[in-house]
Formats: sequence, C-alpha cells, structure tokens
Amino acid sequence: MAATVSETLLDWYDTHARDLPWRARPGTPAPDPYRVWLSEVMLQQTTVAAVKPYFEAFTTRWPDVSSLAAAPEEDIMAAWAGLGYYSRARNLVKCAAAVAQRGGFPETEEGLRDLPGLGPYTAAAIAAIAFGERAVVVDANVERVVARLFAIEDPLPGARKAIRVAADAITPDRRAGDFAQAMMDLGATICTSRDPKCLLCPLTQSCEARAAGDPARLPLKARKKDKPVRQGRAYWIERNGTVWLVRRAGKGMLGGMRALPDDGWNSRSDGSDEAPLAGIWESAGLVRHAFTHFALELSVLVNRGSEQPKGEGEWWPLDRLEEAGLPTLFAKAARLVLAS
Ligand code: SF4
Repeated sequence: MAATVSETLLDWYDTHARDLPWRARPGTPAPDPYRVWLSEVMLQQTTVAAVKPYFEAFTTRWPDVSSLAAAPEEDIMAAWAGLGYYSRARNLVKCAAAVAQRGGFPETEEGLRDLPGLGPYTAAAIAAIAFGERAVVVDANVERVVARLFAIEDPLPGARKAIRVAADAITPDRRAGDFAQAMMDLGATICTSRDPKCLLCPLTQSCEARAAGDPARLPLKARKKDKPVRQGRAYWIERNGTVWLVRRAGKGMLGGMRALPDDGWNSRSDGSDEAPLAGIWESAGLVRHAFTHFALELSVLVNRGSEQPKGEGEWWPLDRLEEAGLPTLFAKAARLVLAS
C-alpha cells in the first residue's frame, strides 16, 4: 500500500498542487528555506487565506532572514498584529537572530530542531520542503488524512503516535517535500474535515475509512473540557484626538505588543477592576475573545477627560490607530469604542 499511496499522491500533486506564494511548483528547484520557515510559522493555527497578505507584506519588507533579524522587534510585532498567537512572532524574532548568526538555516531536521522556538513539525516541514530530506511531516491536515486512510479509531490526541507511525510508512524516500505538501493539499481541499470528497480523491482505492463508510467520523477526538471564562477590563483614555496606549510586558499574554491599558486579567484569574486613573468611566460594551486555554470577556470603559495616567505609555493619534499594531483583542475594543 505504501508505494501505491505515495506514487498515486505525487502524480495527483503534479497536476493539482495549490499555487501558494511560498511554494515552488512540482519539478522546479526547492523554495528558499526562509520563505518555507516564515510561511510554516505563520500557518500554525491560521488559515492560508489569512496568512497570504501577511506573508507578502513580510517578504516585501524583509526579503531574507538577515533583514528580518536586523529589524527592531517592535516593528515585527506590529507587522504581525492581527495574525494572533503572538508567541509565534516572538519565537520568529529569536529564530531569525540565531539563523542569521550561523549564516543560514541548518539543512537537516535534526539541525533545525536546535533552533530556538522551532518545533518538530516545522523542522520536519523545512527539512523536507526546502532541503529534500526524508522527514515525516504531520500537521492537522495530514493527521486527518492518515487517520482515515488507515481507519485509526483511537481518539486524538492519544492517536498521534499511531498516526505518525502510519505517516512514516507511506512517506517516500524521494520527493518527501512534495509528498508532505501533497498530503497537506489533499487534507485542505479534498479530505476536508466535515465533507471529504472521496469521489474526487486519488487515494480512494486505498482508503480504509472510505471502504468502511462514513469517513468523516474520523479522526475521533477526546472530549474537550470547557474553557474557563475570565473577566477583565480595558480602558480607553482619549484626549485631543489621541488615545493612551501602553506596551505590554515582554513575557506573558500578548507580550511586547502595544495595547490599551487593562486591569491585569490573565489566563488564570480575572482582572482587578482597578482603573488607571480616577474619574468618570462610561461603558462602551463587551468584547469576547477566545484564547487557546481560556475565553475572555473584556468590558471596555471610556474616559474622555484630559488627565495623563501614571506609568509609561504614549498618546497615539486616532487617525493613525491602524499603524499601532494592536493585537486583535484590543483592535476589537477600539472598533467598539469608535463605533459607539
Ligand atoms: S477516500 Fe475520502 S476519506 Fe479517504 S483519504 Fe480520500 S477523501 Fe479522505
């Protein structure tokens, strides 16, 4: 089955590969590892459609890893704003510095694993796609395809080991990068989560879940616990066409990003309800936001007095607010105020 799956899938990929800005077409020289790395980091937890404009903007502004490594961290964080999961951007900065210092990306999966902030999936993907190494690349799309192909009935995340072993068994020695991208494309376009299009699938003859009927059932997932809901407040302090913005502490939630002042909520506890200055606060409403491990209900409070809060911050012009690089949570809060 292994050879049939890889050959069939590679044939399919030769004509159906998605055209993506970080890709090389099948049969052309491998893409630049910088572009592969950047796209893979951006694509974690984010869709291709959301990533494309960010990828274009980053590679236009910082066309190689040395230019990215030389950029001020705050510029990178601001350019990342809106993509979410900001720890990825902080890891990007650290990794770019390490790569620039050693004069380029390591060319093996093992070497790539030593780079700061670069996980096993990304190391395998870069090794296979940019350097042609036989590496077993398993992202969520590949997990789904493999669980169905082999009818793996254990629920995720426990099934990951069995999925990896099965993925290893079908990964070819040659064209491992194309094979990884073909699996990703199959998962993204045909073997989709809710509605697998088995009639169009090149692997339909080899697929055990398809033979058993109802492949959309797989992969099974262990029941998730409900996320805790935290309450917090963000404070909009406005004077003379500007709003008071602070920079969040380097470590922790949304670390290093520009933000509205808040009352110190975090993943483990509600905020203190202490405003940064005394005065009259009016409610602009509530923003709900889902983080990985908790949900936040953020009340947005507005003060249009002229006092300056204590502590560090800056008065930011309202007509340039888009350039502040506010993370999505605070951008939602700003939109709420500006619409009210
Ligand atoms: S036959 Fe259906 S379930 Fe099996 S891999 Fe193809 S699309 Fe997925």
